[in-house]
Parts: sequence; structure tokens; C-alpha cells
Amino acid sequence: MRDSMQSTVAFSFIVYKKLTTMHDTILPKIDLNRCVRCGECVRQCPTQAVEMCEEGPVIVRPEACTYCTACEALCPQGAIRCEFEIVWEKEAI
Ligand code: SF4
Ligand code: SF4
Repeated sequence: MRDSMQSTVAFSFIVYKKLTTMHDTILPKIDLNRCVRCGECVRQCPTQAVEMCEEGPVIVRPEACTYCTACEALCPQGAIRCEFEIVWEKEAI
């Protein structure tokens, strides 16, 4: 039998798991000086973490924020900064 036929075929899988880091505790920052109160971040936040208040959009439900960064991406004024980083750990099993 040829060598290649005798060798054991090994399968391995790579999984990704989200690391919980201190970054996860940092919420998106909204610069109310740049904000024009268009309400887009409020409408588009998938978890209703943001609400329009008297002073402008505020993250009123921080526990609901999933750190998806949608608000940062869609704000037409660049008024939202997500300084956290979601880190995925690569793990071979
Ligand atoms: S999307 Fe940007 S400009 Fe519009 S309300 Fe939100 S922070 Fe303000
Ligand atoms: S990061 Fe995502 S979940 Fe958090 S406030 Fe922005 S849009 Fe909402």
C-alpha cells in the first residue's frame, strides 16, 4: 500500500469564540456637538438601547447594547464612536 494510503486522515475544526474583555464594558460614545438629532441611531439600534432624549440620543439601556457598532456605521455625522473591540479567539478542536 502506498504511504499516502496508510496515513491516517485527521480532521480538525476551527471554532471562534467571543472573548469577554474589558472592552465589552465600554459603550458607544455619542458626541452631542456633532449630532444633528436625525434619530437614525435610535431607529436602527437593533436592541433599542438608544433613545432620543431632550439633550439628544442617549444610551438609556446600556445592558441591552450588543456592541454591534451599527450606530457608529450609520451615523451621517460621524458622531458615534465605538471604542471597544470585539475579539474572537481562534481555537482548534
Ligand atoms: S445618527 Fe448621529 S446625528 Fe443622527 S441622532 Fe444619532 S448620533 Fe445624532
Ligand atoms: S452598538 Fe449596536 S446595540 Fe449598541 S447602541 Fe449601537 S446600534 Fe445599539
